[in-house]
Amino acid sequence: MVLAETLEKLSNACGVAGREEEVRGLMKSFLKPHVDEVNEDKLGNIIGIKKGKKNASKVMLAAHMDEIGLLVKTISKEGFIQFAKIGGIDDRILLAQKVIVYTEKGLLDGIIGSKPPHIQKEEERKRVLTYDELFIDIGAENQEQAKKMGVKIGDPVGFDIKFAKVGKNIVIGKAFDDRVGCAVMIEAMKRLKTECTVYAVGTVQEEVGLRGATTAAFGIYPDIGIALDVTIAGDVPGVREVEAPIKLGKGPSIEIADMGLIAHPKVVRLLIDAAEENKIPYQLETGLPGSTDAARISLTREGVPSGVISIPTRYIHSPSSLLSLEDAEKTVKLTVAAVQKIPKYF
Ligand SMILES: [Zn+2]
Repeated sequence: MVLAETLEKLSNACGVAGREEEVRGLMKSFLKPHVDEVNEDKLGNIIGIKKGKKNASKVMLAAHMDEIGLLVKTISKEGFIQFAKIGGIDDRILLAQKVIVYTEKGLLDGIIGSKPPHIQKEEERKRVLTYDELFIDIGAENQEQAKKMGVKIGDPVGFDIKFAKVGKNIVIGKAFDDRVGCAVMIEAMKRLKTECTVYAVGTVQEEVGLRGATTAAFGIYPDIGIALDVTIAGDVPGVREVEAPIKLGKGPSIEIADMGLIAHPKVVRLLIDAAEENKIPYQLETGLPGSTDAARISLTREGVPSGVISIPTRYIHSPSSLLSLEDAEKTVKLTVAAVQKIPKYF
């Protein structure tokens, strides 16, 4: 399977944080042919291990399987679903979205509705309706019917966006944060030839506080950690370069620092050298809001030198995002080149 196909399958799957089952199943089957063993830890992280030489360095690659989404909070007497938000979701993007409620009985289509604007008061129309003023309409006549349809408190709700190619190498889809990191990691494991032991970890619950990476890194205690994640591509109208300098189509971004991590200088050197020696275009980025799994990996036990390679992606943390498959492919190349160079640096 090529990178685009892997990404398509992963992007269309449901993986609201804490409910990563569907993505985990795919990751297991996609990693299996390229590693010596695949394990699942107690929190649900999936760990593919490619064994290297005895006493060789342990490398942890991490890409998170979870996505932002919603959870069923209450079902009103009239059959409407009120919801909780999981992960950083901007209330402005919720209204009128088509969503899928993932119940044990199957998938239900729904729309996020609100009081119709025609009858909203003047001040209501001027402000953004907050998520607790919105509801999901699944067409149920009442609470009893909604329950019969399978809806239960805690069911995950995801955005209903299907993967599509829109340009020569441009794709749009759901949850590219971080299914593209997952797809890149799988492809890298396919191509990697190294004496290091490589742990390819699909982590859970990144969007709610980097939780899966914390326990996976504790268990593995790697010698070096690299997170594969997305970064904001700021090359859209209204964004100043200083706010978000990374651009689509200019190659992977090597992160210097974000709110939770100052990338280890040796890891940054390794990544830049790997890019330059292999003529892989790259971008450098610092001062990012938010963080990645690498932040937690770096603080494991006595500390782990860590860094991040990011795929430039537009509109992250919204229902659909957009990226360049060329950037994703170059991120695979950079990941493979860097991991293969590790024995010379660590
Ligand atoms: Zn992410």
